[in-house]
Amino acid sequence: MALWNPFGKKSTSNDESSASEGIDQSADTKQPASGSANSGDESTREEVAEPTTVPASETAKPQGMFAGLKSAMQKTVKLFNTDIRDLIKEGRVVDDAFLDELYTDLIKTDMGVGPAGKIRDDIGSKFRARKLFMEDLVETARGTISDIMRQDDGEIHFAESGPTVIMVVGVNGAGKTTSIAKLAHRFTSQGKTVVLGAGDTFRAAAVEQLTVWAGRMGCEIVKGRQGSDPASVAYQAADLAKKNSADICIVDTAGRLQTQSNLMDELGKIRRVTEKVIPGAPHEVLLVLDATAGQNAISQARGFSEAAGCTGVVLAKLDGSAKGGVAIPIRQEFGLPVKFIGLGETHDALAAFDVNQYVEALFDPLDQ
Ligand code: GDP
Ligand code: MG
Repeated sequence: MALWNPFGKKSTSNDESSASEGIDQSADTKQPASGSANSGDESTREEVAEPTTVPASETAKPQGMFAGLKSAMQKTVKLFNTDIRDLIKEGRVVDDAFLDELYTDLIKTDMGVGPAGKIRDDIGSKFRARKLFMEDLVETARGTISDIMRQDDGEIHFAESGPTVIMVVGVNGAGKTTSIAKLAHRFTSQGKTVVLGAGDTFRAAAVEQLTVWAGRMGCEIVKGRQGSDPASVAYQAADLAKKNSADICIVDTAGRLQTQSNLMDELGKIRRVTEKVIPGAPHEVLLVLDATAGQNAISQARGFSEAAGCTGVVLAKLDGSAKGGVAIPIRQEFGLPVKFIGLGETHDALAAFDVNQYVEALFDPLDQ
């Protein structure tokens, strides 16, 4: 198996590593995405979505990203707004029955009973015995949700010096590998150098998937043989990042459930080996949650956030979810900041989470 290396540098093994078994130390010069450096590329290429033209940095065009967020939230907004608008259109005054119906509509977004109850109570105390207009509801809900979700630390915490190590964890199919590709794209388009560690050694397809993305992003990638120790891959990736003075090292991991204690322990091992190479690592442990899983994403967050020492959430597949309100209880129950949201399958379909834009997109009735 080859080490994807756009700079043509050889990576060297580290004799101090107790976890270097099964790692391929060879290096290839980077091939273009259409190259045939890796067997299995053809099938992998069919699995991953073709990247579209690389857009300008999203920070340079917040309007465009907000539009992307709004369109990704359409499924949630549609369900939500249809019911709520019907309720409000009837011209009823706010009473207990009205508030109960409002509450039922709110929890359909999977925002959770706490936030839905709070919005209901706030509406009750402000508008009881009066007619409620949509603008009043949006204004109140915006305030309530913004209070719950206020977070200081939206973006990645970078290491003060040396490479920043980011571990990515979650259940199978949540969107980990795709989110890593998106993060790598985000960082490389900011001029940062990225090394990827293909730590999902369970599935050959996962390694191939990440290899294809790495080729497209121009990132180096460290891979192990199928079934090899993922901690050894993490070790070598961190080591390569350090040797090459890369800015960021992102380590993929195999999907696992919080109930699989041996696999959860393995995450601890991955943490420890990266810390051996780079003090303070991992600087971020990002839990990727599938927004289409709604409340199930919450139970995933519960186990993982404790066992893996998660520092933030990537909420993937918001575009395919009618339960986009789920970011709210994730923030409320776990105090984990939602750092990024996935808005599609392409490498540019990732946005930094912005509470105000999120609430705006969730409650904006104007585009209906
Ligand atoms: P992993 O098993 O956690 O690594 O999950 P993958 O990254 O392989 O993703 C599983 C599936 O979800 C793939 O088909 C991805 O294309 C898809 N996916 C990942 N993120 C998103 C997203 O933000 N939106 C959509 N629509 N699909 C996504
Ligand atoms: Mg994967």
